[in-house]
Amino acid sequence: MAIDVTGADRVRSDLRTKLLIDGEWVDSRSGETFETLDPATGEVVTSVARGGAEDIDLAVAAARRAFEEGPWPKMSPAERAHAILRIADLLEANAEEMAALEAMDVGKPISLARAGDVPFATNVFRYMAGWATKLEGDTVPMSVSPEGTFHAYTMRQPVGVCGQIVAWNFPMVMSSWKLGPALACGNTVVMKPAEQSPLATLRLGEICLEAGIPPGVVNVVTGFGEDAGAALASHPGVDKIAFTGSTEVGKLIVEASAKDLKRVSLELGGKSPNIIFGDAALEDAIPGAAAAVFFNAGEACNAGSRLFVQRNVFDEVVAGLAEQARAHKLGPGLDPETTMGPLISATHKERVLSYVDSAFAEGAEAVVGGSSFGDTGYFVEPTVLVDTKAEMKAVREEIFGPVVAAVPFDDTEDLIRMANDTTYGLAAGVWTRDVSKVHQVAAALRAGQVYVNCYNQTDPALPFGGFKQSGWGRELGKDSLHEYTETKAVVVSL
Ligand code: NAD
Repeated sequence: MAIDVTGADRVRSDLRTKLLIDGEWVDSRSGETFETLDPATGEVVTSVARGGAEDIDLAVAAARRAFEEGPWPKMSPAERAHAILRIADLLEANAEEMAALEAMDVGKPISLARAGDVPFATNVFRYMAGWATKLEGDTVPMSVSPEGTFHAYTMRQPVGVCGQIVAWNFPMVMSSWKLGPALACGNTVVMKPAEQSPLATLRLGEICLEAGIPPGVVNVVTGFGEDAGAALASHPGVDKIAFTGSTEVGKLIVEASAKDLKRVSLELGGKSPNIIFGDAALEDAIPGAAAAVFFNAGEACNAGSRLFVQRNVFDEVVAGLAEQARAHKLGPGLDPETTMGPLISATHKERVLSYVDSAFAEGAEAVVGGSSFGDTGYFVEPTVLVDTKAEMKAVREEIFGPVVAAVPFDDTEDLIRMANDTTYGLAAGVWTRDVSKVHQVAAALRAGQVYVNCYNQTDPALPFGGFKQSGWGRELGKDSLHEYTETKAVVVSL
């Protein structure tokens, strides 16, 4: 196995492993730590401070002071923008280190982290920096009194202290989606990365300090969901919670935040339909369908995990998809030849395989894959299931692994009914050359993003989020600014 990552050893010997609170690196109050593992081998990468409720208290107090008394919200928008741009510059300058951190902590292929995660996170900060100077209000003509009696206008103000909790599949990217708009709008933050993948977010916290973001504005508390995460979600000093994770935990977040009616935005799970019509350019649709579900080993919220294929091209598409699956090179994230890494943990691997086994038990078959791979680490073969039924667990629930159910369809009406027959509504794909069908189907699908003749094309400027149980609110794009500002109406009697 050729591992050739510039400075990977240096990255390993220089990891940030403490909590970042008020600009200082501190141990957890309990002194406890937890191990983060390389999912390709199960070996310990390092131990990280295990934050709990007391640490959350300290971090929230620091964020509150930074918000009420610190220079950050009072800085001019241009100064704030400049600091956020410096975060982007530092991410770019340390791109190889950031990519290596994601590869060793999450197991994702370093080629993907280099080409995808690092530039995307960088571009999110650049895009959001631009909004800091453009948070405008309106002047509003009032009708309840004669013209000239009142002058009314709106202004956009920061929400305050934001608790941000992220999942493990795209640690740096998810952190940028949350930090970027929060900072652009003048908020302060307590971020809790996922316990499986804390390293890149800790380094990002350090980069924020290096970029000149004042102490206390960005705090990072590593720890487990049930203690640090739950303490953050229910903390009375937090004004807003932004959460990325499972729908199940999203519901707990809503409950925890309800007692003081925090603002809540949720980016949750999905079971997205990807649809190939018989007239599609199959030379694009087949690799597109493979990428839709095998990208990031299927650990993507918007994965196209239900593939609907018009019956006249079903066999050809399934054969092509199986070929794409066989072409993947499974291996450790740090191996530049790897195209599909391991899953995040032993528990998650077992969970993914249990879905596949349940599908087999109910009569489905695997055209390719269906098992674990290798002797070490948490690898699962890319898997294409056929002969599934709509009521199967593997077809209804989010698997979050490299597993797709391929289902034939005959007519468009039936297809739309099947595609929308899910509690989720995050994303969908449509492959056809028929422009009328494109717009009819895109309008009919109940999903937050619809990709046509492509899949998973996200952009800092495009809103991302879900219908139904895939979430509340939108990240990215100008929609995200609504999540991080309060609108104030000012009425002046003239
Ligand atoms: P998860 O819900 O188990 O954990 C997500 C985060 O929540 C982690 O930081 C965890 O520590 C924390 N957490 C767990 N219990 C908590 C509690 N009681 N209170 C507060 N915080 C708690 O999800 P996961 O397994 O880490 O991630 C996979 C899920 O994330 C999938 O469902 C996936 O679809 C979803 N996801 C969604 C998006 C999106 O943008 N919609 C993006 C990435 C991942």
